[in-house]
Amino acid sequence: MIKPTRKGQQLAALLKHEGISHPRVLEVIASTPRELFIPDALKHKAYENNALPIGQGQTISQPYTVAKMTELLLGQKNHGQTVLEIGTGSGYQTAILAQLFNKVYTVERIKALQFQAKRKMNQLDLHNVHMKHGDGWEGWKSKAPFDAIIVTAAASTLPEALPAQLSNEGTLVLPVGEKQQQLKHIRLEQGEWMEQTIETVKFVPLIAGALS
Ligand code: SAH
Repeated sequence: MIKPTRKGQQLAALLKHEGISHPRVLEVIASTPRELFIPDALKHKAYENNALPIGQGQTISQPYTVAKMTELLLGQKNHGQTVLEIGTGSGYQTAILAQLFNKVYTVERIKALQFQAKRKMNQLDLHNVHMKHGDGWEGWKSKAPFDAIIVTAAASTLPEALPAQLSNEGTLVLPVGEKQQQLKHIRLEQGEWMEQTIETVKFVPLIAGALS
């Protein structure tokens, strides 16, 4: 368990004010050192509620969005079993998930980002994260089913492989769209798909194919 920091607590308080209400999500935001996931030149902005560049044309997501998506994945629960993340990026969202789920599976198409994120997990002693270099459009079939799936890049349409990798009563949270993206919350309840649109969001695109 990582200890909360003063800056982390201030960020959690800001997110609570913005409408995040899940107590465990707020606790984990307060204790996860976001500066660890940010390039040196931008570390002074680590606890602002903004997305920031992390190199390779990618961004670390805005803390509000990270918290909102995590809250949707957990629902009423305080802790989940397995979660699949598409788009490891900096690894910040991964680290948040690792403290709230038993096992985290995460897929990234850019090897250099995956490598850096792996080091951060070790630095934080988070050893329940399994990483794969590959194309997230395909999900991670051999490890399915997952109780929760989160996509942290915007898909133009729902990647077909993903709903099939959800367990019964599972939850999928993802941005869908091109310039204007909607955050979707999709659940499989007693064999029926329930879809809810949460809010407008802005993510980098989910690009097909993996880079070496
Ligand atoms: N959760 C991350 C978000 C990073 S931005 C964070 O907060 O740091 C989105 C990430 O998705 C980028 O790292 C990008 O390389 C990755 N990505 C884009 N398309 C992908 C795909 N098809 N498969 C896997 N990862 C992908």
